[in-house]
Amino acid sequence: MFTKILIANRGEIALRIQRACRELGIKTVVVYSTADKEAKYVKLSDEAVCIGPPPSTLSYLNMPAIISAAEVTDAEAIHPGYGFLSENADFAERVEKSGFSFIGPTSASIRLMGDKVSAKRAMIKAGVPCVPGSEGALPDNPKEIIATAKKVGYPVIIKAAGGGGGRGMRVVHTEAALINAVNMTKEEAGRAFGNPEVYMEKFLEKPRHVEIQILADTHGNAIWLGERDCSMQRRHQKVIEEAPAPGIDRRLIAKIGERCAEACRKIGYRGAGTFEFLFEDGEFFFIEMNTRVQVEHPVTEMITGVDIVQEQIRIAAGLKLSYRQKDIVFRGHAIECRLNAEDPFKFTPSPGRIGSFHMPGGPGIRVDSHAYSGYVVPSHYDSMIGKLIAYGNTREQAIRRMQIALSEMVIDGITTNVPLHRELMLDPNFIEGGTSIHYLEHRLEEQAASRGKP
Ligand code: ADP
Repeated sequence: MFTKILIANRGEIALRIQRACRELGIKTVVVYSTADKEAKYVKLSDEAVCIGPPPSTLSYLNMPAIISAAEVTDAEAIHPGYGFLSENADFAERVEKSGFSFIGPTSASIRLMGDKVSAKRAMIKAGVPCVPGSEGALPDNPKEIIATAKKVGYPVIIKAAGGGGGRGMRVVHTEAALINAVNMTKEEAGRAFGNPEVYMEKFLEKPRHVEIQILADTHGNAIWLGERDCSMQRRHQKVIEEAPAPGIDRRLIAKIGERCAEACRKIGYRGAGTFEFLFEDGEFFFIEMNTRVQVEHPVTEMITGVDIVQEQIRIAAGLKLSYRQKDIVFRGHAIECRLNAEDPFKFTPSPGRIGSFHMPGGPGIRVDSHAYSGYVVPSHYDSMIGKLIAYGNTREQAIRRMQIALSEMVIDGITTNVPLHRELMLDPNFIEGGTSIHYLEHRLEEQAASRGKP
């Protein structure tokens, strides 16, 4: 096992990784930008290295600065968290070439999954069901593109092979709009991702977002830890996540989970990973794989008792997984609300100093947050200041506990999305479960329209 790990991230996930390390008796090195100098995990670290000014290109994305911080502190491994450099294959490669362990998959796996065309090809080969669409990237010939769309059936969605974060996608409803849309997406993709390749998928009209968590070690073992429903989204950003996904046949989940684990064995994947699917009319369709720990990992931890971050560290150290598939038992239900420093309905960011900060507690409540009273939310990074997770023996109990926790919570001085979560926990459609990925946006639009009425 490692004796010292460098955490190449910030915010709640830096604290989460630090907690995992401390529990394992591993020393932590934290790197920080000048904007994060006062953060709690910086104070709690064994060593802290300032890697630059607030803009992330000069700090959290600065590879040479991070690698030299590992060198001067004698860290043995680097945990990239999520976002920033976590899915950057070049970074993973440079970390390993510099003699450190990268706590994540090999750079080859990151590269394979980072290109959505190659990822889909690998999944089809491994027997994972995908959204019907073009075979690989679209050709240049307009006649062929039109023929492909005809075969797939309208509406279709044109997606950039190098896309991410919900960008580089365009829905097309008619043949008349097709070629123009393809060309525009290509041009945007070339500019934004340095790769103009695009592909086509059937556009699913009312899907849910359901994803499978996997863990794979370097000894050929791969297991699945159930699913998460992350359908409550706005602009492709998840707002609420839960596990298990309400109302889906457990046998279907087991079947798709086993397919994902088998795909990991086939491609020689190592580390934690998430297979994202759209789920519609009882069928799963793979859309992409995330090769890192995810924001929403706690809901899986709550219902399985597995510490995903500790497993990531064990895997990187070359140890075997602590669990076999038959050891994984799903118990109860967990829901996570992402706490953002933003207007609850207009979503404008609200950085600044937090005044009172009172976090809820009681049975089944978990708070993952680096914030505290007097903490200044910097304006340079995303607006998430933490996550509130509620666990219950049943979904009803988890919702009830979340309602109570949200009613106890106080964060003032800045604006947060807590009022939105309070509303959603009382929303009859959420309470019923199984809403589609478009539900939240439709709800917000209706609310805005009714506010506009005299
Ligand atoms: P990104 O890497 O940018 O997150 P994804 O491929 O995961 O891209 O897609 C992001 C979101 O776009 C999905 O969660 C879903 O809301 C929507 N989407 C993507 N593909 C389709 C599709 N074939 N049909 C309907 N919606 C889709």
